[in-house]
Amino acid sequence: MALPEGWEMVVGLEVHTELRTATKMFCGCANVFGAEANTNVCPVCLGLPGSLPVLNERAVSMAMAIGMALHATIAPSTFHRKNYFYPDMPKDFQISQYDLPINSGGYLDLPDGSRVRIERAHLEEDTGKSTHLGVSGRIHGADRSLVDYNRSGVPLVEIVSGPDIRSAAQARLYASELRAVLIATGASDGRMEEGSMRIDANVSVRRSGEPFGTRCEIKNLNSLRSLHRAIEFEAQRQVKLIESGGVVRQETRHWDETVGATSTMRVKEEAEDYRYFREPDLVDLAPSAAWQQRVADALGPMPAERRAAVVALLGEVSDAQRDAIDVVIDLGLERFVHATHAAGGDVAVALARVANELAAAGDVSKLTEDAFVATVAMEAGGQLSATQAKTILADLLASGGEPRAVAAARGFEQLSADSLGGIVSALIDANPDEWSRFRDGDDKLAQFFIGLVMRETKGRANGKAVIAELHARR
Ligand SMILES: [Zn+2]
Repeated sequence: MALPEGWEMVVGLEVHTELRTATKMFCGCANVFGAEANTNVCPVCLGLPGSLPVLNERAVSMAMAIGMALHATIAPSTFHRKNYFYPDMPKDFQISQYDLPINSGGYLDLPDGSRVRIERAHLEEDTGKSTHLGVSGRIHGADRSLVDYNRSGVPLVEIVSGPDIRSAAQARLYASELRAVLIATGASDGRMEEGSMRIDANVSVRRSGEPFGTRCEIKNLNSLRSLHRAIEFEAQRQVKLIESGGVVRQETRHWDETVGATSTMRVKEEAEDYRYFREPDLVDLAPSAAWQQRVADALGPMPAERRAAVVALLGEVSDAQRDAIDVVIDLGLERFVHATHAAGGDVAVALARVANELAAAGDVSKLTEDAFVATVAMEAGGQLSATQAKTILADLLASGGEPRAVAAARGFEQLSADSLGGIVSALIDANPDEWSRFRDGDDKLAQFFIGLVMRETKGRANGKAVIAELHARR
């Protein structure tokens, strides 16, 4: 729903992404999702007195990879304590970066041709996770609350965009492109449903040409759909408020997915409320040029470039194929499409099989590129039906092997032209009435003969080949 004539929304996003390190940011506890509550904890991530943080080198490498992918400048940086009380944060402060972040400046180009500036991408640690038991699921009105510290100290990078986004659709596009970039760097698994990517949206409105209005921050949006709906709702709310003579108050708001509305969480804190000061237990972080170079060398091409490479193989691309390419790039499976192209195979068939059968399988480690290419060639050449090709791919994905052998074992092997011709001739002789009607021009009878051939061959014949045999005798 568009804003009323003359109004414009201004949106900036803060994206928190958990890094895929083996261990936490400042201790050796495992960084895994879904473990039994409070099993991956130690004195450091529980904030016990006398414990000292040790910085995770992999987390720094991943933060630099994210910065490089976003064209940011990597600079010497420092850690600060951000002080506030919350039960899921046992130290009563979060170690973050403040005035000197590891990455600053940069931009992200979106598929629609727009560019969103990146202000910074800094390192920080995650908090634990509270679960509020009660009807609302929020702390207000909860019967009791449980705290799990497994997430406490998990490394995060927070990516702050400039206030460059002008619609909910563009915000969604930015988040989805950023997610693809984060996955491509290897720094994040991009699993929003597991909370490994969470988004806060700063939303304000203004009449066109006026300075920025007062913004509200919507916290913890954990799906692209929520992001879109929450921004849309919040911008409309602010316009209605201003048009009815009200004033937007700077505050933090909560998005309720069920109700489809935002509501006040707390009146916005200013930076001074957090009493930031330098973390005395960590030294400054100044990655050497050699370390930065190692990270740069390990960084592969980004999704936009990889999508363009697949599009180039296809030439014209439909909307459905564009969606398929997004899936294939997200999963990093385009090597199967490129291998098919290199072998002179049918790229469109290959793309469809990768985006569906391979994507659904999850684990493709048992399927070799050669086996995939051979299966596509058999399907594109008419030796296998689409259904048979999908069955063979499922077998290859589950247990590996060679497609011709799998096809033979399943009885999918094509009949030779000679044996098909013999079967067709015998069936014509056995059904003279139907055959004469077909000869007289009743094409519907072709289906009758195909049915007989399929029964005779237990489905191994190719329908097109049967029709060709019938017409050859007509
Ligand atoms: Zn720990």
